[in-house]
Amino acid sequence: MPTFFLDGKEIEFTPGQTIIQAAKNAGIEIAHFCWHPGLSVAGNCRVCLVEVEKAPKGMIACATQATEGMVVYANSPKAVHMRNAVMEFLLINHPLDCPICDEAGECKLQDYAYKYSVGKSRFDEEKVHKDKRIELGPNVMLDQERCICCSRCVRYCEEVVKNPQLTFVNRTEKVAIETFPGKQLDNSYSMNVIEICPVGALTSRDYRFKARVWDMSQTNSICIGCARGCNDVIWVRDNIIKRLTPRENMEVNEYWMCDYGRLNTFKFVNNEETRVNNPMMREEGIDSDGAGLKPVEWDDAIARIISEFKNYRADEIGFIASPYSTLEDNYVLQRFAKEIIGTENIVYLPHIEGEDDNLLLRADKTPNSTGLKHLCINPIDAKFIDKLLNKQIKMIYILNDSLSGLERTEEISKAIEVAVLQTSNFYEMSHKASVILPASTYAEINGTFINFQNRIQRIRPAVAPLEVERLPGDFSVSRLDKFGSHNDKWTKGTRFNSRPAWKVISQIAHVFGSSFDYENTEDVFDEIAVKVPVFAGMSYEMIGEQGMLVGTGETITA
Ligand code: SF4
Ligand code: SF4
Repeated sequence: MPTFFLDGKEIEFTPGQTIIQAAKNAGIEIAHFCWHPGLSVAGNCRVCLVEVEKAPKGMIACATQATEGMVVYANSPKAVHMRNAVMEFLLINHPLDCPICDEAGECKLQDYAYKYSVGKSRFDEEKVHKDKRIELGPNVMLDQERCICCSRCVRYCEEVVKNPQLTFVNRTEKVAIETFPGKQLDNSYSMNVIEICPVGALTSRDYRFKARVWDMSQTNSICIGCARGCNDVIWVRDNIIKRLTPRENMEVNEYWMCDYGRLNTFKFVNNEETRVNNPMMREEGIDSDGAGLKPVEWDDAIARIISEFKNYRADEIGFIASPYSTLEDNYVLQRFAKEIIGTENIVYLPHIEGEDDNLLLRADKTPNSTGLKHLCINPIDAKFIDKLLNKQIKMIYILNDSLSGLERTEEISKAIEVAVLQTSNFYEMSHKASVILPASTYAEINGTFINFQNRIQRIRPAVAPLEVERLPGDFSVSRLDKFGSHNDKWTKGTRFNSRPAWKVISQIAHVFGSSFDYENTEDVFDEIAVKVPVFAGMSYEMIGEQGMLVGTGETITA
């Protein structure tokens, strides 16, 4: 492999690579604002200027290809001077509003100002003022004064979304980002400009002013909005999820996520009004109008479920598994249905809406239908629906889903004698249940989902219910942790009285005299790896942060 020298260190590169790319691959960051690995090279911020031996002037590392034997300095006195000059220029008109800026703590300009600028300004004129509160679209706010004109947002819309909704207007210090007249930044992926903006010019209308980044913990997770399973980070303060941001996985979502997933897959976790916060049970003889449901202890709810199971023959009991739930939850539910109850009546409800788009969004709006296929749990069919309507199935146990998407839902719900729901939130038809068990959400548990590409990926607890299961190495990162402070996530805020579904089903199995001896979610997965051939040899450790393809043994490392 050819090599060049960067500040005296020999760096390998592949022909055609630029200095900045080759340095990045070698773990060295050359300062940059406008360069982004997922976008074309613009070369307009100039902060990556480096000194190249025998070149008469500074070269921008983002647009200069590495060549064999090239000698480059990113930290020589000349390179440092060039970088200082660019920083001074960029800061001339930049407002000093870090104390009120959402980007503070994760702002490249702020970081580089500490790292690379001289610490004082020679500019004592009035700064140029521009509009600070522009609603660019339904989800993104623009502060024109903070923009450093890197053009990342413009290139992103053109190149990634293929919908050029942003442009520059005016020249010199009056240059500003705008949408085209009469248009909005309203594409399905508009909020990715917030992360790629290296300063606080573009902010989220949903998250603005809700938290400081250093007050939040960060937990690597997976979006549950569709079968893509975009890798994301859950940001939590005081046990409340404040935002989701995309996490790089070149095999799944590259650097991006869609606005739908970002905004619609966490608020139900925080929602104190709709969360089921206690087991609920209907008192005998009271109509299913919701009024009869009363909060009870876990043991009472489980005892009632067991007595209901005993009232029916195995073929009169049905189970609805869930493509919203983890592989582990569904595996334990299926094991319970087959081994304890002795029924094959187990199906799931598909949730297909519209069509796949040409970037990330999938028509399948669930994160784990592929996992259910690997467990040989089939989608609901006409035969199962007939059994419900004809009262051949009289008792139904529904995991984390609702029958409301089915045709003839009303008729089906009238035909069912006993419904047990294991759900995190109340929904339209849940008041008709006989027993409701509060289930932990994906943000409170460990587990795995398998996306449409057959890639198994892990989720981890980001917020704490009353009973927390923490596996070794699963602590989230808080910036405060680095300074010895505790992570508020585990001690503050509302903690819901929910439990992981696999755990409750195992408790029920235990009362039936069967040993579902799992200490934690990893134990369930280890059993799956032994009993389901396609998962043979897999472990949580192997799945890691980036997932692996099921059945191939291939792992992907960042
Ligand atoms: S708004 Fe942000 S991303 Fe867009 S050009 Fe300005 S600094 Fe760059
Ligand atoms: S594409 Fe799907 S998985 Fe990705 S962020 Fe959107 S809804 Fe979530």
